[in-house]
Amino acid sequence: MAGLIVAALLLGWLSGHVLFFLWLFTTGYLIAHLLRIRRLERWLSSGAGPPPHGGSGVWGEVFYQLQRMRQHHWRRKRTVTQYLQRFRELTAAMPDATVVLRTGGEIEWFNEAAGRMLGLRSPHDIGQRIANLVRHPVFIEHLRARHFTDPVEFPSPVNLDLVLSVSVVPYGQEQLLLVARDVTRLHRLERTRRDFVANVSHELRTPLTVLRGFVEMLEDGRENLTDEERRSLNLMDEQAKRMERIVNDLLLLSRLETDERPPRRGPVAVPALLELLNSEARAMSGTRHNIKFEVDAALSLRGGEDELRSAFTNLVSNAVRYTPEGGNIRIRWYADAQGAYFQVRDTGMGIAAHHIPRLTERFYRVDVARSRQTGGTGLGLAIVKHVLERHEAQLHVESTVGRGSVFTCHFPVSLVVRA
Ligand code: ADP
Repeated sequence: MAGLIVAALLLGWLSGHVLFFLWLFTTGYLIAHLLRIRRLERWLSSGAGPPPHGGSGVWGEVFYQLQRMRQHHWRRKRTVTQYLQRFRELTAAMPDATVVLRTGGEIEWFNEAAGRMLGLRSPHDIGQRIANLVRHPVFIEHLRARHFTDPVEFPSPVNLDLVLSVSVVPYGQEQLLLVARDVTRLHRLERTRRDFVANVSHELRTPLTVLRGFVEMLEDGRENLTDEERRSLNLMDEQAKRMERIVNDLLLLSRLETDERPPRRGPVAVPALLELLNSEARAMSGTRHNIKFEVDAALSLRGGEDELRSAFTNLVSNAVRYTPEGGNIRIRWYADAQGAYFQVRDTGMGIAAHHIPRLTERFYRVDVARSRQTGGTGLGLAIVKHVLERHEAQLHVESTVGRGSVFTCHFPVSLVVRA
């Protein structure tokens, strides 16, 4: 530019037309730049091809830098496209249905399995609310309550024989990932297991009744028996009773599991129920324990009376059975703003912390000998767990070995009835 101005001034001075030459050279310079801008614009809008020659000045540098940026951009685009392609292949191969939702439940994207299992159609259903397409009440309630920690199970809207386990996970910014798995086989197995336990327990009942009948008959003529025979008879009676308790508990458990409906939600007069339990506990303990009941007499609960009685009896019976003579047992029935509580506190042998998460498993026993010796079936706390689940209640266990345990059933406010 400086060279051009000097040349224009020199020519102008020689010819006496300084302004004319200055104008001529500036215009030429401008036109040259405009031509390069035009070339640049053409090259950019063509989207491909090598860059035009930009000379050795500023324009050369601009074209060179732009070409580098474009190559870099192409390379990235190729990588992203490859990733996208791989992602598409992966999600298409996935046996689980996957749906991306906005927080309002509008469908953003789904894979092929979602089409098969949930009946979604592409692109028709994109942007639709999933609750309008998958209309099972369990799923609608799950979406509404937004308690996304546990999966829910319901039949597929496309094929009612297919049982789906659906999990919804919030991710990113205001998005939800829905994953549906086909759990039909697991469901069938679980049903077979339940039916098997129920049938076996049922089948065992009749022979057991016959056996116990004979034992009782023999007991009527005890005086004619030798000591050895009497001991054997006692043992037979004891074992038959134990087996009867196990069979009854197994039957109760399988009823609790199979009956999918929650118990009838009539009001249960818990104070009256606890009065009965009070006399049962005293009969069970004899005078071996100091038993105290603290009952809010105006506090009742909506639920299944038989189920609640079983659960409460199991907890109190455990306290009696696992508390040595002279110990204290305190039973409380009370409420606060968070709901109602049935609490059994004992000063018994206690439970080590690592056993606590497993206590409600069937036949899980910390002290096998003591459980058997005191007539335990190993099913008591499993029954408690199921009953509480059916009442949307929770079991809390605190315990210290050698000092005692506290079992608390926490019922939600929605079930509380005040007299
Ligand atoms: P069981 O019929 O054997 O008592 P449960 O299911 O009622 O079966 O209880 C499971 C196990 O938990 C028991 O075997 C016992 O070891 C332990 N347990 C339950 N309640 C208490 C308690 N109050 N104190 C100490 N241990 C307990």
